[in-house]
Amino acid sequence: MRYLMLSDIHANREALEVVLEAAGKDYDEVVSLGDLVGYGADPNEAVKAVRALEPVALVRGNHDKAGCGLIDAEDFNAIARQAAQWTQQELSEDHLAYLRELPEGPASVGGFQIVHGSPRDEDEYLFTPVEVSENFEFSPARLLFFGHTHVQGGFVLNREGVVEEMEPVHGEGASRLEFRMEEGSRYFINPGSIGQPRDGDPRAAFAFYDEENSVIEYCRVPYAIETTQKKILDAGLPESLSRRLAAGR
Ligand code: ZN
Repeated sequence: MRYLMLSDIHANREALEVVLEAAGKDYDEVVSLGDLVGYGADPNEAVKAVRALEPVALVRGNHDKAGCGLIDAEDFNAIARQAAQWTQQELSEDHLAYLRELPEGPASVGGFQIVHGSPRDEDEYLFTPVEVSENFEFSPARLLFFGHTHVQGGFVLNREGVVEEMEPVHGEGASRLEFRMEEGSRYFINPGSIGQPRDGDPRAAFAFYDEENSVIEYCRVPYAIETTQKKILDAGLPESLSRRLAAGR
């Protein structure tokens, strides 16, 4: 089974379209790690596109919860809160209902697990080896996919018991980097964010997982950032949400 791993689309239609075009028919099943909406100007289109893909497994993100009114955005910073309120007004009733029904992680699929934040807490950010170390006991899986940080890569717990960060270094343009998982190691993998990367690379990020061959493939694709930026400004969303897309921060 070959999985297409999608995370943190954040209502960015242009980025999602380019990702799906690049993925083509090169997968059997789709998995979604949450945050379909929030920040971007096309929440209905993002939800519609993901629903059409019929993911075999999916979990909700914090922005999905805020965007459908499941939580109020009190804990969000002012900019994220403003975007969440705008998103809730914009979403159709049908899409609001869909977001409200999204499950909390962890979810199991194939021989692996998925979460939005961490296995311990769906809203926790996994930025450091220490944070990851504390979370291995909360998942029995050899492989876990997470999102939420918008940083492509992840962490490996090697056979010596050391947690190391994985930082894929891509070439120009559309780029794919693959690696084979080692026997006896455990992996927390982040496919990166499609709609709002924060790892310094503005290209849309996603990944494939080939379960038979234990191969992860990190992908980046350029998209029409200016179009997305203009939509954000035209929608009256905060200007910084437009600006950060070009920086990938
Ligand atoms: Zn997110």
